[in-house]
Amino acid sequence: MSKIKPVDLMSELVSLCKRKGFIFQSSEIYGGINSCYDFGPLGVALKNNIKKLWWETMTFRSDIEGIDASIIMHPRVWEASGHVENFTDPLIDCKKCKKRFREDNIEDKKQCPECGGELTEARNFNLMFKTFIGPVEDKASIAYLRPETAQGIYVNFLNVQGSCRQKLPFGIAQIGKAFRNEITPGNFIFRTREFEQMEMQYFVYPEQADEKFEYWKEQRIKWHRDVLGLNGESLRFHQHGANELAHYAKDAFDIEFKYPFGWQEIEGIHNRTDYDLKQHMEYSKKDLKFFDEGKKERITPYIIETSVGVERTLLTILVNAFTKEDDKNGERIVLKLHPRVAPYKAAIFPLVKKDGMPEIARKIEDDLRSEFHIFFDMSGSIGRRYRRQDEIGTPFCFTVDGETSKDETVTIRDRDTMEQKRINISDIRETLRKRIAL
Ligand code: ATP
Repeated sequence: MSKIKPVDLMSELVSLCKRKGFIFQSSEIYGGINSCYDFGPLGVALKNNIKKLWWETMTFRSDIEGIDASIIMHPRVWEASGHVENFTDPLIDCKKCKKRFREDNIEDKKQCPECGGELTEARNFNLMFKTFIGPVEDKASIAYLRPETAQGIYVNFLNVQGSCRQKLPFGIAQIGKAFRNEITPGNFIFRTREFEQMEMQYFVYPEQADEKFEYWKEQRIKWHRDVLGLNGESLRFHQHGANELAHYAKDAFDIEFKYPFGWQEIEGIHNRTDYDLKQHMEYSKKDLKFFDEGKKERITPYIIETSVGVERTLLTILVNAFTKEDDKNGERIVLKLHPRVAPYKAAIFPLVKKDGMPEIARKIEDDLRSEFHIFFDMSGSIGRRYRRQDEIGTPFCFTVDGETSKDETVTIRDRDTMEQKRINISDIRETLRKRIAL
């Protein structure tokens, strides 16, 4: 395998994403817009696979319910949550070149790291996007695009608990868009201003919080490793020190991944205590306590939060999968995606465009389509067709050849080992099922 330098890996990945239809720059024909991206056919397939896997892991259990709250909420929500006051980054401007920096990202607070110019004092910049509700753009009509999905869950805590007759401990899961006017977006889709979060808030008795916090830490790192197939050695925990903890958190761990640009957070697991529910009770004047039938008392639960970005997970999966290997024709690029997340599960090829091969191949394709996302290709040499699938991470290719019409078999070619075997057409479906579930 040839070794790729980290900086080359990122630029190769960006170019592959565009070339193959994973990710495009938003509004590209107008010159693009900074840090906004569009997901192409393969990108959206990968994204949907990630969301489905997360959703099933979280909600296919009796103690977690799902919701889908609105993006625009009552503006008081963001006062109660602390976002209006605290969701800020300290911002510094260069008086000479006018560039902006996050204070915590620059070492010498006096001189611009770009041009050496004089810097302004730091001032707090709120990361929430503002908008207006209704036709009048005044202070009374200000609303915010949510900077996290969590608050939509907290304000619905009793609605969900009551309607689903849940008891502590139980959780509420949600996938949805969040918006942050980040000062320093970057590293491709790692940090953007619009992104999707997959958040689960687990409501517990206060005395259970430490135990459930440990439980969710383990569950979440296992998910990245065993369900998404990320390399365990590229994953680690990072505990927040006192100066990193958010205003609401008692304890927080990040799951970090080793990206080409260093170890960075992929997911946060937080013990948010009873902060959020207490704040909402104070600001809304509504009682959000849980009534414990057994103890005959009202309890304000503690909340253990797990929060992960969809696009960041997608980038992590691509970085983890991107491989360049020497082979007999020079070099091949392979996305070694777990079959579970791969956009296409299989490709079907007729070896040549005659002798009934395309018809048999189409029949196999039609048969599999009801269950799997399948690619069909009959153009170019078989070797090139394999390479094209390697680059987009399709784990299996089935080729219909001269033998097929005689014995009802096809070759199955494995993306990672490049091994080819013959199997019966009638076994294809079951083989795919088994390999995806591994
Ligand atoms: P940071 O300190 O890096 O700005 P954060 O600690 O505020 O991030 P959280 O609020 O814990 O991040 O967000 C939870 C998850 O949401 C992150 O782990 C990440 O996967 C995702 N996320 C947060 N901000 C962004 C962003 N700007 N772009 C893409 N994903 C994001």
